[in-house]
Amino acid sequence: MDATDVGGVHVKYLHHCRRQLWLFARGIRPEHLSERVRLGEAVHETSYDRYREVDLGSAKLDHLDGELWVHEVKSSRHPTAADEAQAMHYCLRLTELGVEARGAVLHYRPTRRTIRIPFDDEHRTAASRDVATVIDVVSTASSPPRLERAACKGCSFIDYCWTE
Ligand code: SF4
Repeated sequence: MDATDVGGVHVKYLHHCRRQLWLFARGIRPEHLSERVRLGEAVHETSYDRYREVDLGSAKLDHLDGELWVHEVKSSRHPTAADEAQAMHYCLRLTELGVEARGAVLHYRPTRRTIRIPFDDEHRTAASRDVATVIDVVSTASSPPRLERAACKGCSFIDYCWTE
């Protein structure tokens, strides 16, 4: 894996659980079993019709508006550090491609809440560091340890990690 292979999902998983990132990077995909992922897909299918997905290769973002703000639609109720890191990763990827993204707007569908995050120098540095960390985690020979059980709620790898 090199930097251009790192996508938004890798960064999201890095911030949630390094083991999740490691499993995902090895092609293990139990997402079809996850209610939460199905809900996320349904949200994308039924809302924000005017949005058009932007495919950056390893990264796919929900929408880029004419003012160069990235838009991401979330099925969860509350913002997380992982959501922010994923959105900043998209901004980084866009700037590397010559598109000067101004930042990201996160839309939390269940609560109708939106959060606007400017892509400043601090976020740029953090996003670059995340790419390097993803590559480090993925290149380790053995899987990182599990999180505490309570932190695994809703994770699509829960059967893999917790079926003894
Ligand atoms: S079930 Fe828990 S330990 Fe396993 S990948 Fe998911 S969050 Fe990480």
